[in-house]
Parts: sequence; C-alpha cells; structure tokens
Amino acid sequence: MEIVQLPVLDDNYIYLIHDLESGDTAAIDPALAQPVLDTLNAKGWRLNYILNTHHHWDHIGGNLEIKAATHCQIIGSANDRDRIPGIDIAVAEGDTISLGRHKANVLFTPGHTSGHIVYHFNEDDLLFCGDTLFVMGCGRLFEGSADQLWHSLQKLKDLPASTRIYCTHEYTQQNGRFALSLEPDNQALQQKMQHVDRLRTLHQPTVPSTIAEEIATNPFFRENSPSLQQALNMKGLPPIAVFTEIRKRKDNY
Ligand code: ZN
Ligand code: FE
Repeated sequence: MEIVQLPVLDDNYIYLIHDLESGDTAAIDPALAQPVLDTLNAKGWRLNYILNTHHHWDHIGGNLEIKAATHCQIIGSANDRDRIPGIDIAVAEGDTISLGRHKANVLFTPGHTSGHIVYHFNEDDLLFCGDTLFVMGCGRLFEGSADQLWHSLQKLKDLPASTRIYCTHEYTQQNGRFALSLEPDNQALQQKMQHVDRLRTLHQPTVPSTIAEEIATNPFFRENSPSLQQALNMKGLPPIAVFTEIRKRKDNY
C-alpha cells in the first residue's frame, strides 16, 4: 500500500492511500479538495473512498468537491451521519472497510468529538487516528469528557507496538515541549525531541510515529509512569485522575 502525505493549511495532513494490486484509493480527512484532485491526477489514480474521522471542518472541507469530481463514496461515523457532508456509508466500532485486499477495523474513540472514529489497518500495521491521538499528545476535549477520551486512548495503546500512527495534525513540537516540561529526565523523550527539532528545521513531517514510541514519550499514554505522577504530585492516584490533570495542564500550557 502506498501512502501519500499532503501537508495543507497551517498544520493539517491529508493522506491518500493506494492499493497497488487493485488500484483502489482512499483519501483520509481531506480538509481541501484541490491538493487531493491534483495528486490523483499526477498519480493517475481513481478515488474510491473518502474516510472521515470526525466532522470538524478541517477534516471534511474537501468532501463535496472531491465527491463531485471523482464520484467516490464517503465513509464516516454513524454518530456523525447528520454532520458529515455527502456521507454514503455510516460505520461504527466493529465494522470493517476494504481497500483491495487491505482491511481496516473501525474503532470508536469519542472525546475530542462525540462521534470520532479511527481506521486501523491491522495487517498493514497502520492507524489513521484523526484528532484522537497526536504525536506526543492527544485531541482537545470539545464534545467529550476526559474519562471518555482516556478510554478511547486505551484502545489505541493496546494496539500492536509496531503500529504506525498517522494523525491529522503536525502538533508534535509543541506537544513535545509540554511533555518535556513534565518529564525533563525522560531519555526517550529527549531523544525524540532532538529528532523532531531536526526534522522541523528541515520542514519535514514528524508523522508517522509508532505506538511503541508514544508509550515511551506521550504523557497521555504515561499516566501510570511513577516519574510523571511524581512531577504532578499525584503518586498512586487513579490513572483517569492523572490523565485528567495532564489534559487540564496542556490546555493551559
Ligand atoms: Zn478536530
Ligand atoms: Fe483537526
């Protein structure tokens, strides 16, 4: 499967995934239409699907124009049936979608929004996680509780460690600075940030990451870490309480 990563707007990514064998192609969270249409043209690809993770404008902005130009089908969360423009196929946790022989499981991950879903291509070790999980961070709570988002993130944390995670925003550097403010002595985090700073100086994407890297560096995956709990003065407190405090601090960082 070929993956094209298109940086658009200030810090969004649109992904195009293409199965070489069948020729099937999908676009994930197209904020804009033109960069997608230009890429399809340049590659000579036919678009079968748009996959939306949630209804925010910077994830669905290109839906209708792309659909009009390509006659693709739009797949989105059943909970967002009324707010995903052009939706054809409403999916929920447990559903599977296919791109050629590649299959993706849909996971329900509310918190950032009430209908958020992610697409996990398990045999390909690929996760398209929208605004639920970011590199060294997670989505803001717009329509859900910290409790909900914590449960959603647990599902992602339980995926195989080698899973490559493709999120929709390049927020890595700000997220990493916040993470370092909590865990200045975390060596994995220090090394990751050096790498990230180098990439950003070269205007290169820091996405994808992996679940293993996130477990080592992302404070929202590390609410059980003694050093992090110590830094927050929350030693031994329940994971959700620690997570909630980290989310609150990040909002005010
Ligand atoms: Zn969003
Ligand atoms: Fe977004």
